[in-house]
This record gives sequence, C-alpha cells and structure tokens, in this order.
Amino acid sequence: MSDMDVKREQLVVERVPKRLLIGGKWRPASGGREYEVEDPSTGRALCAVPDAGAEDAAVAMDAAAGAAAEWAATAPRERGEILRAAYELLVERQDDLALLMTLEMGKPVAESRGEILYAAEFFRWFAEEAVRIDGGWKTAPDGNGRIWIMRQPVGPALLITPWNFPTAMGTRKIGPAVAAGCTMIVKPAHQTPLSMLALAEIMGQAGLPDGVLNVLTTTRPGEVCGPLLRDGRLRKLSFTGSTQVGRALIEQSAANVLRTSMELGGNAPLIVCEDADLDKAVEGAAIAKMRNVGEACTSANRMYVHASLADAFTVRLAEKLGPMVVGRGSEPGVQVGPLIDAAGRDKVDDLVRDAVAGGARAVVGGAPLADRPGYFYPPTVLAEVPPDARLLKEEIFGPVAPIVTFEHDDQAIAMANDTVFGLVSYVFTENLRRAVRYAESLESGMVGLNKGMVSTPAAPFGGVKQSGLGREGGGVGIEEYLEVKYVALDI
Ligand code: NAP
Repeated sequence: MSDMDVKREQLVVERVPKRLLIGGKWRPASGGREYEVEDPSTGRALCAVPDAGAEDAAVAMDAAAGAAAEWAATAPRERGEILRAAYELLVERQDDLALLMTLEMGKPVAESRGEILYAAEFFRWFAEEAVRIDGGWKTAPDGNGRIWIMRQPVGPALLITPWNFPTAMGTRKIGPAVAAGCTMIVKPAHQTPLSMLALAEIMGQAGLPDGVLNVLTTTRPGEVCGPLLRDGRLRKLSFTGSTQVGRALIEQSAANVLRTSMELGGNAPLIVCEDADLDKAVEGAAIAKMRNVGEACTSANRMYVHASLADAFTVRLAEKLGPMVVGRGSEPGVQVGPLIDAAGRDKVDDLVRDAVAGGARAVVGGAPLADRPGYFYPPTVLAEVPPDARLLKEEIFGPVAPIVTFEHDDQAIAMANDTVFGLVSYVFTENLRRAVRYAESLESGMVGLNKGMVSTPAAPFGGVKQSGLGREGGGVGIEEYLEVKYVALDI
C-alpha cells in the first residue's frame, strides 16, 4: 500500500464523528466510556467510539419522545425531500463511505460501494413513498354511517442493525421511519459503528431535525436496549440480526406490546433442476454464495443439484470460486475479504470440519488461511456432503458452498423446506411449469428464479417461519411504521 493510500484510510476514519448522537448533539458516553473498533483484515484497532450505557439510552429516549409530535406533524413532502437530499449525499460521497465500510467490516471496496448505492436507493424509494401514505373513506354497509381510515406514525422506534450490511440495513429502517414521521433510536452492531455515525451526520446535513434520529454505539446491547424496550414511550422495535437474539427481543417486546419487525437468520436452499441452464446456475450460485463473503442472510447455504448435473456443476463452481483473490478489501483486485472476527472464522472452520468428518470432500478451499493476520477463509466448495452435516442446518456465514444431489423434484422441495428458517430460496430451471411449482411450494418469503440475488428497495424483503416478521422495502415497507386508525362516523 502506498503512503497516499494509508493516509486516505486514516482520513476517512478521522472524519467520522466519534460521538453518540442524541437530540441533535454529538456527545461522549456517560462516564466517558469508549471501545475500540477493529479492522478485521489486520485485527488492529481503527479508532475508539463511545460505549453507551443505560443513562445514555434514557437521554436518547427523552430526545426521541420529545421530538415525536412535531416530527409526526411535518409535511410528508418535507420528510421526502430530506430523504432525497440524504440520497444525493450518499451517492456523492460513495467512495469515502465505501472505504470506511471496508475498513470496519472487511468486504472488498467495490462491494462496499455497491452497498452504499443500494442503501441510498432506500432513501430515494421512501422519499417517494412519504407522499403516498394512504387513507380511505367509504359508506358503511347500512348506508348511514361512514368509515374513515387514516394512517399515522406508530411513534418512537428502536432500530437495531447487524454488522454485515452496516449502511443498507440502517437505511432500510431509517428510510421508512423518516417517511412515516417516526422518531428513532438506532443501535448499530458494535463491530460497525462508523458507517452508522457517518450516515447520521449525513442525515443532519440533509436537514433532519434534532432528535428525530439518535444513535447509540455500545458493546452492551442488553443494558442499552433493555430499558428502552421497557419504556412506555417506545412504540416500535425493528430488528435485523440472528434468530436467537430476535426471539429474545420479541419476548422483551411483549411487556409493552410493541409493534415489531424482525429480519432474522436464513438457511437458503439453492436448487439446480435437471433442465437448468448450467451457465446461469453457476453464475447465480456464485453470486448467491459469494456476495458479502457469504456473510448474508440471503446467502445460499445449501445447494441441491440434480444428480445428472452435479459433477459438471461442482467442477464449474469450483473453477469459478477457487481462483477468487482473497485479501484486504481496500487493496485493488481483491474479491474476497476477511470474515468479521475470529469467532465468525472459527464457526465456519468448525462447520466445514464437521462436514468433512462426515464424508464431504473439499473440491477447493476447506481450511482457514493462517498465513496472515486477520480472519480469512478461502472460497470453499464441498461435494458429497452427508445429509446430517451441521452446515445444512445452521447458517454458515462464510464462503462455503455445500453440494447435495437429488433425483426428483419432490425430494428437493422436501429437503429445501426441512428447516426452521424461511427467508429466501433460489431455483434454476428453464421449465415454466416446474418454476411455478417450486415458487409455490418453497416455504420462504422470497424466491430467486434463475437469479442469485433478490434484494431491491422496490420489493418486499422478509422471511417466513423463524426468519422473521414483517417486510422491509417495496410498497408495504412503510406500513411497518404506520398505525391504521379508523373513525366511525354517524351522520
Ligand atoms: P446478532 O448477533 O443477532 O446482532 C444483531 C444486532 O443485535 C447487533 O446490533 C447486536 O449488538 C444486537 N444485539 C445483540 N444482543 C442484543 C440484546 N440482548 N439486546 C439488543 N440488541 C442486541 O446478529 P449479527 O451477528 O450482528 O448479524 C448476523 C445475523 O443477522 C445473521 O443471522 C443474519 O442472517 C441476520 N441478518 C438478517 C437479515 C434479514 O434481513 N433477514 C439481514 C442481515 C442479517 P452487538 O453488536 O453489540 O452484539
């Protein structure tokens, strides 16, 4: 790396406000507590940010509750214009924001830039939705009364985001919350606070009033979120993260009967039928597996390939994934960055060892890269994976593609649905009748048909079963932040 590159990396980190944002003021955590943010490609500290506690959460709740009524009453067009301005700023600053994301999260800069643009699109989408919040008016069946239906902001919301898409998982919640007229407290994942702090600064520059968006960075999520969930002024929880934490948060939300949106874990099957176009299937599988180094809830976790194509598919996928360049995400030409931390890498290693011990064969990859600092795991293709391998049941969250063969569609559908998760499924087939059958039979909130990626702000994203509740994006995304009120009129 040249001196100029080193300087630029330091600059993008230096420029981020390393403070909590509460009521429009940047401030340290109570007691001045801080923690270090790590670069997963080196294991070294990038900088320190505030480590908020319960006292900070209480002040943030005051700020969000204090700003709620005035914000709910702002003109929808004004809220939309703020989102539009924030969209423009994200696009304008994509290079610096992408580098910042890569430094704290690890993914290659090109992918980080893709995420910044994807994240910005949620603001553009919800800028347009803010002015389309619907209501209704109709004559009651008896002909005398009238039924008037309006939608109002649900109220102050707690938004909890994961580290794997540090900006997009934020804008996918902040966008509709702003559009609907809700105030909010955002708690980003402890590994990736910088992208959220940079985003919060942009929201202020775009004209968001003080107190509408408050950000708490912390390593003590329970201590910060517990009191918020128990505070009667909070009306909404939107969470993206693991099913395990989501389940606990649903329980905690029961006390105040909060509206909840849950985007949880996945275990996506990718099915390659006997009539699939192999080029499309290999390309789609590579995207569904390698996007975000496999650290995505939508990542293809299990590949079911018709026995007649399995050998060719395996060889071609291995040829595609094997040569991908692994390294520091900020270096030119790198296609595969590090995993988020040592625990993430060790989990992937554990799952692969378990599969291999049960009879799986590593066609490429198969062991962590121990020759460098950071948490690197190479692209791995596993053939002949036994049906009881743990990685067919648990989220791998790494660049590992386990391949299992099938003979009949019924068998593929049964194996695909044999999971508590139901976020997304992928199917590759050139036969329309078969495509419809799979799309209707798969127990998931989304299906990629001859496509390895489904995410777009214009579509409802979300899961069934233990993958979640509610939808983000699309026409219904804003509904998560609106209450329906009905007024009965006797005229
Ligand atoms: P995680 O461990 O569940 O953490 C997610 C967020 O919850 C983080 O901000 C975390 O804070 C916070 N958290 C943890 N314990 C908490 C508690 N007791 N109270 C309140 N907040 C708490 O998940 P992750 O490892 O960051 O993210 C990976 C998971 O997210 C995967 O399972 C993935 O499938 C899922 N995901 C789902 C979607 C979707 O749309 N369905 C999208 C992306 C990711 P700390 O960082 O401080 O622990």
